Amino acid sequence: MTKTPPKLNTDRIFPDNMTTAHALILKAKNGEKGNTTGKRYAVPAFNVTTFQGINAAFKAFELLGSSGLLAFSNSALKHFGSGDPVFGLDVAVDYIIKKAKNSSVKVATHLDHGDYVTDKGRKVVQAAVQRLTSVMADNSTDKSTGLGMPLEKNIEFTREVVDMAHPVGLSVEGELGVLAGVEDEDTQSEFSTYTNPEELDRFLKETGVLMLAPTIGTKHGPNKGKPGDKVKLNIPLAHKLLSIANEINDEIVFVAHGASTLYPNVVEYAVSQIEKLGDPSGAKQKWLDFVGTDWDQIQGLIEAGFCKINTDTENRQTYLASLLGAICTNSAKIDIRWYDNVTTDALTQSYIQKLIMAGDYGVWHEPAIQVEKFKFDLSRSLADLLEEAK
Ligand SMILES: [Zn+2]
Repeated sequence: MTKTPPKLNTDRIFPDNMTTAHALILKAKNGEKGNTTGKRYAVPAFNVTTFQGINAAFKAFELLGSSGLLAFSNSALKHFGSGDPVFGLDVAVDYIIKKAKNSSVKVATHLDHGDYVTDKGRKVVQAAVQRLTSVMADNSTDKSTGLGMPLEKNIEFTREVVDMAHPVGLSVEGELGVLAGVEDEDTQSEFSTYTNPEELDRFLKETGVLMLAPTIGTKHGPNKGKPGDKVKLNIPLAHKLLSIANEINDEIVFVAHGASTLYPNVVEYAVSQIEKLGDPSGAKQKWLDFVGTDWDQIQGLIEAGFCKINTDTENRQTYLASLLGAICTNSAKIDIRWYDNVTTDALTQSYIQKLIMAGDYGVWHEPAIQVEKFKFDLSRSLADLLEEAK
């Protein structure tokens, strides 16, 4: 494995309005919107798990003229495919390609935490290389022990994915260091180790990845710290790692995993709905105990060059909060579509909010609303909120 890693083939033509995650994120790193270059922004990667999620995300992207990044975990693909992740991937991608064809923005599809270590995981990564536009090769954790993978092994597995994906035009995201927390059944570790700067240099040079998820103190899941605690990120380390990467290739972009923040208004709304229901399962305290990463820390990372921010938890929380609200509002509504619409609108609000926070708007066309006037409020209808922000 001494030869230089293959460069990303940027001549590959994807279906209409689809492109790689790296192309979108590099624009964000360079602050490109339309024909202008301005402030750096980030592309939020939305982990979608249902068609509702895809619909909500497209609505938000198109409304704001955003770069769209849809990420799929293994378990999300299983859900799409009724247990078969490869079938799920096919079905979800076919749907996205059809949606993108008539879209006003550019969209990327990305495999989140692709596992190239186990046989089952490999099948999904290989299918992703066939059908998505970007893959993450997460070989930083040994799935059987939850401990860090030796550097050589991580490089070897990641490089295999780069060898497979870069020539056919898919961008690859690698991970270095172990990230603690539980994301879903495929991604969990009790331990967290920071990315080692010397290892980073070697990892980037030998794998050739253009997207890198280092660990600097973020954590997966809704409980990123003890209740009341603040998540502390190692910002000096983040800067050091970025300068090493930029030195190697300034087209390398960093990815913040576990970057979910909390929406205080969503927590407040959920708690009020749970109280109305009489807190039948003792969920109120759990909601009050959720800990996210403070947005000011994420914003600092974006300014430094973390231009893909993975956000999932706050969108799930928004969905659940709106479902609780829907049940409180009308528990005798015998219409699946009504609940579907209420929760899809809520997810759309959540996505709009995050895209605005990340600065990912006005990239492909002017937003259809005045972003500074948009008010995220689950007690109001999406249509009213958009009308007021015109
Ligand atoms: Zn992650």
